[in-house]
Amino acid sequence: MIADPWPLAPLQPGDWRWDALCAETDPEAFFPLKGGTTAPAKAICARCTVAAECLAYALLHDERFGIWGGLSERQRRRMKRAGG
Ligand code: SF4
Repeated sequence: MIADPWPLAPLQPGDWRWDALCAETDPEAFFPLKGGTTAPAKAICARCTVAAECLAYALLHDERFGIWGGLSERQRRRMKRAGG
């Protein structure tokens, strides 16, 4: 069974998170310390089949921390400001 990377919302059958590639990797890479590199997490996201769903979820829920859908919190903020 794949670990639930987002324990606040229970996984449902058919949930995109079942295919989350990050669930099979080191979760700490997705929450780098200030000044830390985001490259390893983004490289994993680039190969993830549910990156679009993940990014949409993060934007919808205003996720403030971590790499979601291959974008950092700063990149997501910029995207929201730009209306995307
Ligand atoms: S896009 Fe990245 S953060 Fe989102 S589910 Fe895939 S690997 Fe995880």
